[in-house]
Amino acid sequence: MDIKYIPDNPYLLLTPGPLSTTKTVKAVMLRDWCTWDDDYKTLVKNLRAKLLELATKKTQEYTTVLMQGSGTFSVESIIGSVIPPGGKLLVLANGAYGDRIALTSKTLKINTVVHDSGELARPDLEKLESTLKEDTDITHVAVVHGETTTGMLNPIDTIGEIVKKYGKIYFTDTISTFGGIPMDISELNIDFCVGSANKCIQGVPGFGFIIARKEEMKKIKGYARSLSLDLYDQWQVMEADGGKWRYTSPTHVVRAFYQAMLELEEEGGIEKRHERYSTSQRILVEGMRRLGFKTLLPDEFQSPIITSFYSPESKKYNFKDFYNKLKAKGFVIYPGKVTKLDTFRIGNIGDIYPEDIQRLLKVIEGSVFW
Ligand SMILES: *Cc1c(COP(=O)(O)O)cnc(C)c1O
Repeated sequence: MDIKYIPDNPYLLLTPGPLSTTKTVKAVMLRDWCTWDDDYKTLVKNLRAKLLELATKKTQEYTTVLMQGSGTFSVESIIGSVIPPGGKLLVLANGAYGDRIALTSKTLKINTVVHDSGELARPDLEKLESTLKEDTDITHVAVVHGETTTGMLNPIDTIGEIVKKYGKIYFTDTISTFGGIPMDISELNIDFCVGSANKCIQGVPGFGFIIARKEEMKKIKGYARSLSLDLYDQWQVMEADGGKWRYTSPTHVVRAFYQAMLELEEEGGIEKRHERYSTSQRILVEGMRRLGFKTLLPDEFQSPIITSFYSPESKKYNFKDFYNKLKAKGFVIYPGKVTKLDTFRIGNIGDIYPEDIQRLLKVIEGSVFW
């Protein structure tokens, strides 16, 4: 495949997914696949094995399931499939994605309790511990690792220790961080976690993946509150039929994801990718501070994935004009998502390099109109 025929992107996506992908990831989509042929099923099998290796050294204890739809569908598949009738979910929320887990659970009529620490604070660990001690009905605990709303990184290690001290099942939404931050889900006491094709692995959107402790997967048969999002059934079919999905899968997207995995390996794996993201994020924050911008979060809470900045105070500033100026110069940024404060966000995951961030900073400097 000669990638010179693939058009250049008109602008880089400095967003937390879909994100800017390489031409080679896009190029491999230019052929068709038969979903029940061995060529495709082998691709799926290899993908599942590679995902497990990224997730943990204890690959024997875990299994992977791929699920159609965006990341939210995979989250819903977990919430709807793993909590038994009469179970109760505690959600530690500090942003829109934590809220979405709670909303999903309530929509499915699952008994749900939410600890909302506010968008600017990390979960309250003492409250978590006392709640787990007192409310013995709680069976599951959920938290978001990288809260994309703000860029907050939550301490999934200490939360996991508390959750396990009280014998609860632990689910983490690692969608924004999986592939971009080194972690071993076994060491983190995670029973179920989730990722999505269009985040740090740098594929295109269309499916998500669930990584689960096998012993826990075996227990969830018949719990699903949805047919198409039944995690157990999807797992059974993928296991039994060597890589087949139950219903039509996004074949081209899966092939692109496989290429993205190979490119992650070429880059040197998650450690190296994490270094690149961290370098880009540091250059971004230093440069923005030089230009007078302030970050929403203190540095010790900040992920290397996406950063929230306060909007300039000047009355002449408005996001739309700022956005359009940057877009015309080749960069798409992201509006803020924090409820009470005026912010905007800049992501640095995807096929984005420190040099791109340097160029962005020059463009921002030249775009100040307020
Ligand atoms: C992107 C993301 C999701 C999934 O969002 P979709 O719009 O369904 O792809 C879930 N959680 C977090 C933390 C995310 O960043």
